[in-house]
Amino acid sequence: MKIARNTTLIHHCSLIDGTGGPAVEDGALLIRDGRIAFCGRMADAPFAGPEVERIDGMGGTLLPGLVEAHFHATYFNISALEDLDIKYPVEYVSMLSSVNARLALECGYTAARSGGCLFNIDFWLKRAIDEDLIPGPRLAASGREICSAGGLMDWNPEFRKIGMEGLVFIINGAEDARRAVRALVKDGVEWVKTYPTGDAASPDVNDHHTLCMTFDEMHAVVATAHNHKLKVTGHCRATQGIKNALRAGYDAIEHGTFMDDEALDLLLERNVPCVPALYFEKASVERGREFGLSQLVIDGHQETLEAGSESARRILRSGGRLGMGGDYGFGWNPHGDYARELTFFVRDVGLTPLEVISCATKTGAEIMGCGTEFGTLEVGKLADLLLVDGDVLADISLLEDRRNFLAVMQAGIIKAGRLATPFPTVVRREK
Ligand SMILES: [Zn+2]
Repeated sequence: MKIARNTTLIHHCSLIDGTGGPAVEDGALLIRDGRIAFCGRMADAPFAGPEVERIDGMGGTLLPGLVEAHFHATYFNISALEDLDIKYPVEYVSMLSSVNARLALECGYTAARSGGCLFNIDFWLKRAIDEDLIPGPRLAASGREICSAGGLMDWNPEFRKIGMEGLVFIINGAEDARRAVRALVKDGVEWVKTYPTGDAASPDVNDHHTLCMTFDEMHAVVATAHNHKLKVTGHCRATQGIKNALRAGYDAIEHGTFMDDEALDLLLERNVPCVPALYFEKASVERGREFGLSQLVIDGHQETLEAGSESARRILRSGGRLGMGGDYGFGWNPHGDYARELTFFVRDVGLTPLEVISCATKTGAEIMGCGTEFGTLEVGKLADLLLVDGDVLADISLLEDRRNFLAVMQAGIIKAGRLATPFPTVVRREK
């Protein structure tokens, strides 16, 4: 990804650095060659000569670029699970994914960690973004997911005579688990996404209290993945599934819905981050009926919403780490709505706006393994940031509407927002 080759001063703004500290009023940030050279009060800023480009923050808020911690580029606002793997061919889903990536960047998300995708689209999407062929968040790629036979993701009935090869490796036993991870190693993904448990979406045989993988299978996934330096995460709702994942050595927990004391202790012991992805649950409850979800499914999402909110609160209050985002790409929870997660965590879960912003920036970058490169506004880090017209701490929901954005920047280059060039130049491929 290109890096700015100039010096820019952003001034006249309130500055939130993402570390959790209070906002700096009358803040200023100096960017030299794409990296942060100064961040603090304007009164303390180094002298900036006439060669320095200036951006007037108009009294707005400057914060690190947001990180979507559970991004599904290939989910195209579907309304039924099977749409995810058999509605369109991979060629068309690839194009839809590039549109979703661009939208995420325009929504202030300068980075994203994938939570699984169709075929190996993520890996190539990441490459196209890195080579500036298409705009999008810096991506941590996942790929096809792993679930045991008969589990949550094994939904195509036998009479269709098709498998789940586009979306999921369906495994039986530890040997299959190792084979699936080895295929992902060859695909070049960074994260292996698994399904230790079911979900409210499948109330008959794979609900949110059901296990969908054995401990042996999960352990085989982790051992193989770690051997090849890949990280492992999993869709964990049921209490036992969370514990199995943590004992098997998972690097992150998705959802972490039904946490008991023992599960929380296991999580905190290794400081494993959790991505609750709760707004999806709220949207499922509020809008599910419009999209034909049954009452049983909606009731399950309500139970998930309540338990998940309580678990997320406990994790943060106990000193654990939460990533923000998750599962946007369903009809009732479409791409572009990502920042509703942040508003939800302030208004419904009870976190402070500063806490939520740290989760959505610093922790997100840490989950991606990039905590030293971006995620906070600190000297030396890449200038991936978001300049918002308005006081974000007074109204976190300003982040939901990209029309409020003055600039979305990656490595010092404005990619979106009102200050972006109206007609993006086509980048000629130089390799
Ligand atoms: Zn997901």
